[in-house]
Amino acid sequence: MADTVIHAPHPADTLKMIRETLCQAQSAITQWPADEDRKPVHLARLGRLINDIDRQRPLGPDGKHGDRHTQTCGCDHLSESR
Ligand SMILES: [Zn+2]
Repeated sequence: MADTVIHAPHPADTLKMIRETLCQAQSAITQWPADEDRKPVHLARLGRLINDIDRQRPLGPDGKHGDRHTQTCGCDHLSESR
């Protein structure tokens, strides 16, 4: 099975911000009063997208990305010192 992979070429769509939006979507869908049958499908799909973001931009136990850089984490490696 192919992996779900996110590409985020828009400068405003950093993986960090997309992750935040996907998490918001998950909680919105969870509270959504309709479409109970399809909720798990939507939540699972969002979960796969979030998992891919966590693969591309790993977070530490403190919830911070720190220096866990990858090829696609999106950090500016030259100026990134956090
Ligand atoms: Zn990074």
